[in-house]
Amino acid sequence: MKLLVILLGKCRTCGEEVEAVSKGDAKCPKCGGPVEFYGGKEVVKLLDCEIRDWERIAVLSPTAQQMVLQALESGTAPKELYPLLLKLKDAGALICT
Ligand SMILES: [Zn+2]
Repeated sequence: MKLLVILLGKCRTCGEEVEAVSKGDAKCPKCGGPVEFYGGKEVVKLLDCEIRDWERIAVLSPTAQQMVLQALESGTAPKELYPLLLKLKDAGALICT
């Protein structure tokens, strides 16, 4: 689990929004056109994480629970969720390999 900067860009040919980890190999997934980058955002990458202790998850607020589950499912989470995920990991409720 780590914080990562995702680059945000737009295809110069068709206008498709593109997210990439590095500028070098970025191509539009739709038309293969060149991508122009305009910014970036920090996200949390959860590689192989799974919940080990459901009891600890169950005491979180329903909103937090949903965000954590969604993060695990998609493999990425907003930066705001990082402190909580880190806490769960430190407590052994979340196991990341
Ligand atoms: Zn395109």
